[in-house]
Amino acid sequence: MNTAPGAPVTAYVALGANLGDAQAALRQALNDLASLPRTQVLRASSMYRSAPVDSSGPDYVNAVAELSTVLGPYELLAGLQRLEQAAGRERPWHNAPRTLDLDILLYGELRQDDPVLTLPHPRMGERAFVLLPLAEIAPALVSPAQLLKVEKQVISRMASL
Ligand code: AMP
Repeated sequence: MNTAPGAPVTAYVALGANLGDAQAALRQALNDLASLPRTQVLRASSMYRSAPVDSSGPDYVNAVAELSTVLGPYELLAGLQRLEQAAGRERPWHNAPRTLDLDILLYGELRQDDPVLTLPHPRMGERAFVLLPLAEIAPALVSPAQLLKVEKQVISRMASL
């Protein structure tokens, strides 16, 4: 990526929770994202409710936030993982229900695939709970064809985040 060192990058982060008070967890996470070093929250989508995909337990609440950050992609990932830990996330098994899940969907135009970080997020195109909130705040990033692919997934828009 041709980005000058230290120049802010626009990144999109997916927020999800399905344990406890999921809406409160997402609101807290949005505040926490704004307090990451050298990072601002530019926009946040509404919250959306959907049944678990590849997971279990109560319905999920999801949203997407647009950030401007000077953190590098791995620094941002580490920051998100700290917030997940702080929210009390446990990992008793793969894809277990979680109090808070934070994923980087896009980091500028960076494309990469290594064991720690894959960008764009490899499954974002398959999930209505990512594409609908992303389309709400960044319509140019989601194509009608992508939305068509997930149109059968049951999802409902809730309150603003
Ligand atoms: P999850 O259980 O969904 O939170 O996945 C976390 C794991 O996915 C971590 O080990 C990350 O290193 C890895 N990972 C790979 N790409 C991404 C991404 N774009 N955003 C967040 N985690 C990622």
